[in-house]
Amino acid sequence: TPSIVIIGAGIVGTNLADELVTRGWNNITVLDQGPLNMPGGSTSHAPGLVFQTNASKSMALFAKYTVEKLLSLTEDGVSCFNQVGGLEIATTETRLADLKRKLGYAASWGIDGKILTRAECKELYPLLNEEDILGGLHVPSDGLARAARAVQLLIKRTEAAGVKYRGNTTVTGIEQSGRRVTGVETSEGTIPADIVVSCAGFWGAKIGEMIGMSVPLLPLAHQYVKTTPVPAQKGKNELSNDASLPILRHQDQDLYYREHGDRYGIGSYAHRPMPVDLDELGTFAPETISDHNMPSRLDFTLEDFLPAWEATKQILPALRESEIEDGFNGIFSFTPDGGSLVGESKELDGFFVAEAVWVTHSAGIARAVAELLTTGKSEIDLGDCDIHRFEEVQLTPEYVSETSQQNFVEIYDVLHPLQPKLSPRNLRVSPFHARHKQLGGFFLEGGGWERPYWFEANAELLKEMPDEWQPPARDAWSGMFSSPIAAAEAWKTRTAVAMYDMTPLKRLEVSGPGAMKLLQELTTADMTKKPGAVTYTLVLDHEGGIRSDITVARLSEDTFQLGANGNIDTAYFERAARHQTENGTASDWVQVRDTTGGTCCIGLWGPLARDLISTVSSDDFSNDGLRYFRAKKVVIGGVTVTAMRLSYVGELGWELYTSADNGQRLWDALWKAGQPFGVIAAGRAAFSSLRLEKGYRSWGTDMTTEHDPLEAGLGFAVKMTKENFVGKAALEGRTEENSARRLRCLTVDDGRSIVLGKEPVFYKDQAVGYVTSAAYGYTVAKPIAYAYLPAAVSIGDSVEIEYFGRRIQATVTADPLYDPTMTRLRG
Ligand code: FAD
Repeated sequence: TPSIVIIGAGIVGTNLADELVTRGWNNITVLDQGPLNMPGGSTSHAPGLVFQTNASKSMALFAKYTVEKLLSLTEDGVSCFNQVGGLEIATTETRLADLKRKLGYAASWGIDGKILTRAECKELYPLLNEEDILGGLHVPSDGLARAARAVQLLIKRTEAAGVKYRGNTTVTGIEQSGRRVTGVETSEGTIPADIVVSCAGFWGAKIGEMIGMSVPLLPLAHQYVKTTPVPAQKGKNELSNDASLPILRHQDQDLYYREHGDRYGIGSYAHRPMPVDLDELGTFAPETISDHNMPSRLDFTLEDFLPAWEATKQILPALRESEIEDGFNGIFSFTPDGGSLVGESKELDGFFVAEAVWVTHSAGIARAVAELLTTGKSEIDLGDCDIHRFEEVQLTPEYVSETSQQNFVEIYDVLHPLQPKLSPRNLRVSPFHARHKQLGGFFLEGGGWERPYWFEANAELLKEMPDEWQPPARDAWSGMFSSPIAAAEAWKTRTAVAMYDMTPLKRLEVSGPGAMKLLQELTTADMTKKPGAVTYTLVLDHEGGIRSDITVARLSEDTFQLGANGNIDTAYFERAARHQTENGTASDWVQVRDTTGGTCCIGLWGPLARDLISTVSSDDFSNDGLRYFRAKKVVIGGVTVTAMRLSYVGELGWELYTSADNGQRLWDALWKAGQPFGVIAAGRAAFSSLRLEKGYRSWGTDMTTEHDPLEAGLGFAVKMTKENFVGKAALEGRTEENSARRLRCLTVDDGRSIVLGKEPVFYKDQAVGYVTSAAYGYTVAKPIAYAYLPAAVSIGDSVEIEYFGRRIQATVTADPLYDPTMTRLRG
């Protein structure tokens, strides 16, 4: 097996060694700058609370696996996981509602939990001040990881299996040849390696710098204290570090708790963010590292903790009889979106990272990386923690610092799924931004882009909008970042014409004599169509999982424009292109270029789109002049444009692409020409609704690498008669009919209860799936939700969606709901 060096013997590095050994890899060296019995990273002092429930399915599943694994990791009859359960309490109505929503996540991802009343909380956790709490969420399978002990047991077990460990060995550089890693340079000499995985925790960015790779994490200090013995706890736990009460979260005060024998451990996020400059940490001679002296442990700043101490005495009055005995400011990693960082470097083949990982997710993420290395694919989708998910602007030190600190501040806040950052904003704006502002655009942020969701200028339209288009009133939660104006924008799109800003969608140009070969290899459709063809296709992994869905426009013999899903796609195509170019002859040469920032796109859609465009362009936009799924160069209002006849909203019209500098002129030309036709600017709120009515899947939610095209209802996009493509072999013999689960369209029976996504779906009272995408369908006058359901649940069946603890009746409905015969699109 390949030789592999793992940097870091914390909970991630040692789990990774173990997962690789389990898979038969035997040439593994783990290095740590610290001594192996106590390396001095975040794991060395981690209190080890494991709350599994997470909005991200992948993160919840990683946590579940960590629990299972640590439970089974035992020595002398003592396991590395103390399954005391987890209790999250609410002291506000908002929190209580949020815990109900969280219970929904737990059900969606297969974790058992229950909402407890105030009295039940008190019964489970007698130390609580009953008066202050309204209820709680109890997850019996949560508990405490004995992280440092797990590391020692993993070292022992993997050493016995042949893994080499070298403590007191600092990695100082990464060796490479021809963009492939060849080893690491260390304080003790060079160690050759075919693969290097950096599990260096909060030192991750430093290791990344060695190869010019941005690792967007910020080390921050977080306070943890231990109290003196609490009299009420005397005799409750036999061992000094033991616990028997559930781990406790008091998120309304940014606090968490565990027992250490008869003492208490208190973790606080209630203080100012304290970013750490690693260059100021100093060096630690191995023999001086101890419980109280290690790089990840900064001196305690009592004044930062005092409010937390007061809040503690309020919620756990028994602690008034104790004092703060020992405290520290412990360092660990924060990232711009709070997620972990996993994957192979774009810059250097064979160099991987697994960083910004909590103890909670450590074994799960280690398993995922081991699968990635040994089979090329993690069974659990890595999209939420893919190192490539960030845009360039999100990798700057300024952005990483500000957003990671913000994540620290908001770590326990109740955040709406659409809630935008307040800062930094206006990082990226499309050429239409000035016009959007004039129209009163309401902007949310995504990938650094300002994206209008609706326009206040359209509020007037609500008065003329027919009654049947009036949307139902929303509950407070689904009403956040939402406006009835979206209904008017949907109405106008379906009945007149609207302009949508599609600029933020990722565009890649694939060019060169080898472009066709590359795309034939990586996509499920036949690309050997004439220039001018546009194709909707899938990008699969070798097991048939959906890596992405893209549109490919063949602009010339050797130039293709891809509409992709984000930078994970960019990294994938760039790497594949590089390999094809390096390993092939001149005719294989191919280049991938991200053209998003230099170009822009208007989606001009609606039944009057053709009438509008013919007043401002002399090109032929008739059905014969530009057929459905075709592209051609046109001139609109004096601007050169690539027009593509396609539409995510399911109406007649075109995506109109031009360079960024020409964007505003194109907008203005269409806007002016559109006035007699009642043209409007429309935002993403209407867009999301219209696309769901049309049944168009969105990558990342409706499908990920965990789904194949048949389950996702995208079998039509796979051309099994094509000679070969990545994933083809895996799909042989699979059909929609023999899929164990299917992506289904649900419509809500009462016509007004709106859900947002990720809610569990119950069939015959069993949680059988979860909502992938949801929206109110303005045209069909019903809330819509898509969900993966077992094949046994079929069209016409009744299911229930759980929303904040309430069951909503829905019916499995044939899709698409809107224009299934495509007469509108092809009109
Ligand atoms: P680490 O344990 O930091 O390991 C990285 C290793 O890499 C280190 O040993 C380091 O010496 C080594 N290394 C770095 N650079 C080099 C180099 N150049 N050469 C050689 N070796 C190098 N998480 C939870 O899930 N639950 C909790 O309750 C919890 N509580 C926490 C409380 C505090 C106070 C803190 C600070 C963190 C807490 N965390 C918790 C977070 C958790 O501790 C970390 O996320 C986790 O331990 C990180 O593990 P790791 O293996 O990635 O990193």
